[in-house]
Amino acid sequence: MKHELLKNKEMSAEVYALRREVINLIHEAKKLVDLPRIEVRVTDRHRIILGAAKMSQNVIWITEETVASRAVVFHEILHAVFGQEHIEGCPLMAANIDPHLDSKTCDRLFLKYAKKQVPKAKAKVRKEAA
Ligand SMILES: [Zn+2]
Repeated sequence: MKHELLKNKEMSAEVYALRREVINLIHEAKKLVDLPRIEVRVTDRHRIILGAAKMSQNVIWITEETVASRAVVFHEILHAVFGQEHIEGCPLMAANIDPHLDSKTCDRLFLKYAKKQVPKAKAKVRKEAA
């Protein structure tokens, strides 16, 4: 799947390793809340964008420079799985975030928004499984 502003990297051993970093962070998120399978694309770096998501469609794009950023990956999961919109002033869900946000704060805010959205997400998963 393509993103209008981000260029997917061609799969190679190097890109596979980058994607593995994103998947490891998805596993970290799965320790906090149930998640469906998420499609991950690693893209070239971008001047402004760190990541992107297809809202409520379980697809995320992460730039090669932010594959190891818990904040960026958790932010995109909240968009992609839970349909969470941006929240001005929130260290995790503002439109512009610090990719180095500490993991304790990432986990706390991720759980807060995921829990808020769970009924909708579960309904979505059931619908796709049918
Ligand atoms: Zn966002």
